[in-house]
Amino acid sequence: MSGNLFSSFANTIPDRGRVFLLAGKREISFGHAFECAARFAHLLASRGVKRGDRVAVQVEKSPEAVFLYFACLRLGAIYVPFNPAYTADELIYLLSDAEPALVVCTPEKETAARSIFGGPVLTLGADGKAGSLIQEAKDLRPDFADADMAHEELAAILYTSGTTGRSKGAMLSHGNLKSNALVLKELWQFSDRDVLLHVLPIFHTHGLFVAINVALAAAASIIFLPKFDPDLIFRELPRATVMMGVPTLYVRLLSDPRLGVAAVRHMRLFVSGSAPLPIEVFNQWQERTGFTLLERYGMTETNMNTSNPYVGARKPGTVGLPLPGTELRIVDKNGDAVPQGEVGLITVRGPNVFQGYWRQPDKTRAELHADGFFVTGDLGLKDADGYISIVGRGKELVITGGLNVYPREVESSLNAVPGVSDSAVFGLPHPDLGEGVTAAVVAENGITEAGILAALEKGLANFKRPKRILFVDEIPRNAMGKVQKPLLQKKYCGLYTEGK
Ligand code: AMP
Repeated sequence: MSGNLFSSFANTIPDRGRVFLLAGKREISFGHAFECAARFAHLLASRGVKRGDRVAVQVEKSPEAVFLYFACLRLGAIYVPFNPAYTADELIYLLSDAEPALVVCTPEKETAARSIFGGPVLTLGADGKAGSLIQEAKDLRPDFADADMAHEELAAILYTSGTTGRSKGAMLSHGNLKSNALVLKELWQFSDRDVLLHVLPIFHTHGLFVAINVALAAAASIIFLPKFDPDLIFRELPRATVMMGVPTLYVRLLSDPRLGVAAVRHMRLFVSGSAPLPIEVFNQWQERTGFTLLERYGMTETNMNTSNPYVGARKPGTVGLPLPGTELRIVDKNGDAVPQGEVGLITVRGPNVFQGYWRQPDKTRAELHADGFFVTGDLGLKDADGYISIVGRGKELVITGGLNVYPREVESSLNAVPGVSDSAVFGLPHPDLGEGVTAAVVAENGITEAGILAALEKGLANFKRPKRILFVDEIPRNAMGKVQKPLLQKKYCGLYTEGK
């Protein structure tokens, strides 16, 4: 099997005439997708892109954007996707850091891109049909001799979402992505009978690698939705067998009266990840649909690390067991393993773990240790059966009066209070305690701060209970459903200190 992620999967597709992508009225075969990727690869090469060069891409979600990803893999170039929401200022930093050989952007952003980037720029329209990438590639050869890549040669650089400081480029190799896709394909029993409902963005590890690489590895078809849209989802669900989503997506579907046993009749699996899945959502999904959500845990730097089993107990509030081939150790601040059941830093090692941060050797050394273990920055614990629970990001830990409070535990208790529909717990500077546990809460039924605090009394020790409950209309989340706690911390930073 070739070391090239693309060719090793593409060469195993039994029938290239079969449908790969269903996008609106378009039915795109594997053969067509691969030919389109070959044409793009020729075009990139003719514009000077060589193996190991970066291709920066800021486009909307379209089938052609996927083929552009394949084109980079075929050529041995490094695919560097950016969130389309990034502004010109953010792009200036990202382009100066990635130093791409070529940029692909939407036609609307071409002028801005040319003003900050002196190299070749191609365009791809939101519908995947317009733009110079399409025009200039259309008459090029539909076959391409794929580069033979080594395990550690880079396939992509994904910039971390970076809620604090500049985002870093995580270098992912062909071997990292291939090994993870093969493990997930086996574990989740993907086959060419599967039809994956694709509703996620494709600039992030979940929608790009977990969804597309796994489907390709299994020769599965993909219903490719341009974005999360409940109407489209309910229209397409009957044709699908698998869906991957982030927790907020499942929450939104639960609020839709169309969700029920009939709507999910053809499904075999719903996967959740990228952010913690509240136990209430896990339970409600089971009640409404009869399906048990399968929660998994991963990150940009490591691909997927753990998963609840496909066959066997899926435990709510846990992210399951380490994936085959991935070692997971929970350690204290000295790097020593903590006893089972105790909270520590999650570290992982395996073929899934990235090659380091792009041009940041110091950050790489600090987080990716010489023994191969990567310090994820997540805090977690292991139960007696080996299932992992995540209690929060290390930097979100609240230390109040010298005691550790894990936001996830408080959020779970808050979400279980009738009348609380969503919550986020974070620390704010506090004159006596160092940090004060604070909760932002979305509430219904007119429940009051005192009412919520009273409801928490039974289950949570005094020091864990929020000092203040702040009512908000919505908890701020990014495109992947991750709570943007720094925004809340900034907004309310003087809550305990002002006037003191
Ligand atoms: P990203 O690199 O943007 O994919 O973010 C990775 C981070 O998302 C992880 O380090 C975790 O903090 C969080 N995350 C991903 N999956 C889960 C999950 N199932 N439960 C809790 N947190 C998760």
